[in-house]
Amino acid sequence: MIIYTIIAVTLGAIAGILISYLADVLPYTRRLTAQVCLECGHRFTLRESLISFRCPECKSRPSTRYFFVVIGMMIVSLLAAAFPVKGLSYWVVLPVLTFLGLIMVIDLEHRVVLNETSIFGAIFLLIAGTLSHGIWNTLLGGAAGYGAMLILYYGGVLFTKLLSRIRHQEIDEVALGYGDVNVAGFLGLLMGWPAIASTLVLAILLGGVISFLFIIGLLLLKKYHVFTAIPYTPFLILAAVLLIFTSGG
Ligand SMILES: [Zn+2]
Repeated sequence: MIIYTIIAVTLGAIAGILISYLADVLPYTRRLTAQVCLECGHRFTLRESLISFRCPECKSRPSTRYFFVVIGMMIVSLLAAAFPVKGLSYWVVLPVLTFLGLIMVIDLEHRVVLNETSIFGAIFLLIAGTLSHGIWNTLLGGAAGYGAMLILYYGGVLFTKLLSRIRHQEIDEVALGYGDVNVAGFLGLLMGWPAIASTLVLAILLGGVISFLFIIGLLLLKKYHVFTAIPYTPFLILAAVLLIFTSGG
């Protein structure tokens, strides 16, 4: 038992380090390049990025996000080992959660979902989904997730146009980013049909409740301005992960 715990925690830490590395590199280079110090641009050698906790040039330490992600993934990996997911082994679940964690970190920090990660996600989650619930449910889930978000996306574009016409002013922000549509598509592959439907509903509910609290907070701080767009990607991922873990083993 104790040996499994140690293995799960170690693999979680490795997953966290991987997420941190990819989130530092991909948004800037779109490629798997050497880790670069975000403060001074020093290129880390492999040895430095693995064992040193400081940049040799400017002596800056890794961001707090690094520790947050590593400890977070240790906990996630332990949970994945303790609560088996229906139809999927831990060896598939952990890479899936690592991938979703990466999408979430990049979205929270840069407000984007990179096309490169979406393409990777579509292939990877097509395989994971097929292992879990067969090819047809997987493809149907992907089409449903992508299609539903695409309708919401164009609905949002239309709504923004209408609003700017009524108010006689240009509104640059869109209600829903196109990245959210891609995320709903690859989550649809992972969840399959009909689970993607409950995932979308849960994501919209979570997004609504948390945005409501957020708006109350902004109002209290007197910082609220009317058109604050909600980033849906974190809520979509949160909803999918909650449903995966409550579906039972
Ligand atoms: Zn540096």
